[in-house]
Amino acid sequence: MSEPAHPLPSTGWIEVIVGSMYSGKTEELIRRLRRAQIARQRVEIFKPRLDDRYARDHIVSHSELRIPSRTIRSAREVLRHAHEAQVIGIDEGQFLGPELVPVCEKLARQGKRVIVAGLDQDYKGRPFEPMPQLLAIAEYITKTLAICVVCGAPANRTYRKVKRGGRVVVGGSELYEARCRRCFDLGPRARAPEPGMTVTRRPERLAAASRHARAGRPPGRRRAGGRGAPRSPASATPTPNHGGSARDASKTVPGRGVARGRLRPASGLRA
Ligand code: ADP
Ligand code: ZN
Repeated sequence: MSEPAHPLPSTGWIEVIVGSMYSGKTEELIRRLRRAQIARQRVEIFKPRLDDRYARDHIVSHSELRIPSRTIRSAREVLRHAHEAQVIGIDEGQFLGPELVPVCEKLARQGKRVIVAGLDQDYKGRPFEPMPQLLAIAEYITKTLAICVVCGAPANRTYRKVKRGGRVVVGGSELYEARCRRCFDLGPRARAPEPGMTVTRRPERLAAASRHARAGRPPGRRRAGGRGAPRSPASATPTPNHGGSARDASKTVPGRGVARGRLRPASGLRA
């Protein structure tokens, strides 16, 4: 993925990495921060306390990449620890509230490179503050896409699989999956395949099949590959493990986060 070219050395700037869950925001953040460390720049890395399901002292991606980080309760805490830093990395920016915006502006004005990763939309597809505000003021924006677990198309939405809780409910693959716009809109009618199963029909055909099943008759036969039935990119390769990484397993350890299938009050959708 491309990285901003270096502006003048004394100029600070803001980079924002946004997308759905599983889209690789954390991987990209870690990649940029590691490169800065290799260049012997002074790097400080932060994540909100709300998201301590896997590790308190590391940022960890769904693919198990990790980098040491400091856990903070508020955006203001970044200022306290950033005096010496040249590069600041912040994950899960959507949990840090509106004050993240002036904090990032202040750091950039001080000449620092500020990189923030976070969800741009909540589970309803609404802009997830303060990320939209950060997008407006950032010099560099990267939008990452996941793979829709239903049909295999590029996914920019995070679908919540349970109908409980408010905007912020912390969880992993037991609660959330990446979906494309269409499968997101289909909601529960677009069924993700069981692990190990192969997707052979497009979402609307799956929905038609279930309507027919409810009506007690088989769906009509259609010419495979015929007109109006383009091959879904997912038909051969659905994501076999949609987010069910070791990180998710750790996140669900009782006492550290959400027990599998249970919601924790006042918790948050993880980016
Ligand atoms: P984010 O921070 O955006 O939630 P991460 O960087 O933590 O994403 O994880 C990205 C990794 O998640 C991918 O490289 C891949 O290994 C894994 N993954 C799990 N489910 C999906 C999916 N549906 N689409 C893409 N990647 C997925
Ligand atoms: Zn889809």
